[in-house]
Amino acid sequence: MPHAIVMQEPGDTAVLHYAPVTIPQPTGTQVHVRHQAIGVNFIDTYFRTGLYKWPQTPLTPGAEAAGEVVAVGEAVTHVKPGDRVAYTTPTGAYAQERLIEAKHIIVLPDDISYETAAAITLKGLTAQYLLRSSFRIEAGHTVLFHAAAGGVGLLAGQWLAHLGATVIGTAGSAEKMALAKENGYAHMINYRTENFVERVMEITDGQGVDVVYDSVGQDTYPASLDCLKKHGTWVCFGQSSGMIKNFALSDLAQRGSLFATRPVLFDFIDTPETLAAAAADLFSVVQNGTVKISINQEFGLADAGEAHQMLEGRQTTGSTILRP
Ligand code: NDP
Repeated sequence: MPHAIVMQEPGDTAVLHYAPVTIPQPTGTQVHVRHQAIGVNFIDTYFRTGLYKWPQTPLTPGAEAAGEVVAVGEAVTHVKPGDRVAYTTPTGAYAQERLIEAKHIIVLPDDISYETAAAITLKGLTAQYLLRSSFRIEAGHTVLFHAAAGGVGLLAGQWLAHLGATVIGTAGSAEKMALAKENGYAHMINYRTENFVERVMEITDGQGVDVVYDSVGQDTYPASLDCLKKHGTWVCFGQSSGMIKNFALSDLAQRGSLFATRPVLFDFIDTPETLAAAAADLFSVVQNGTVKISINQEFGLADAGEAHQMLEGRQTTGSTILRP
């Protein structure tokens, strides 16, 4: 019988139970996928703790995976049994097998491995919309990207450098700073020991940056806004340190008519056309070697709790995958 991680209530990692599950025959637009690799993402911890509302109880966490199609419902047209596929949806991926709606399925090019797909489908599509849609990066832009050595951070640094941006990153240790510098970051700041606003102003000769990508949340607010040029853009896309509680529109007015956005990946890939275009853009930068993938942690599916502890404990770099 296939197994999955099943949670009955939110909490610490003790709520992640490895348990047998039944997979019904797919009907209609459903696809039965057998996973080969599963991505671990910070969003999984937000569902586990209850920070994000559960769509149903019990809940299987997990937002990206890759594997092969076992069977499809009668209304499915673009995938068939035996296809190599990947997907991202908010929950349900911490499983050996599952049913999923066909609209989320991306058929993998032959040269993208299951491991790579599980490491980049959510994180890489996030980097794609952050750099191409939330704020459109052009050559010559100066960028501050927090948590540069993380899963999204390492992908974004390489892609930003390729687009011609000057990329400043932050990270919490010397090892992480060195790793980020190998992945597109021209300047690194240790935001646990240095004042990152002062350092950004030094690096940019007092100008500030065009855009700040901030997934840290409470700990970097409102200092992130102080790093921006007049009319600069603050892209707040996560809260690894906790939700921002003191945001006010006047904070933008006082610092030079700033722009702010709080984007969510799933709003950028919500039609077959937008998903296919974003995936093609992502796969092209991986296939041509522009963006290299660092899978720096691997666990068995049953050990998902250990993966969460490391991610929340700031002990990971790059991508983390689970073996089903
Ligand atoms: P990361 O691998 O980047 O891990 C999070 C990193 O955040 C840590 O390694 C740590 O790096 C840093 N951090 C800073 N403060 C804290 C803290 N108090 N506790 C824990 N970590 C902290 O994770 P992901 O790549 O999975 O995700 C990165 C962020 O992007 C998350 O906030 C996630 O929610 C967000 N996200 C948002 C999406 C969207 O569409 N809105 C989609 C995908 C991800 P360091 O030690 O260097 O500080």
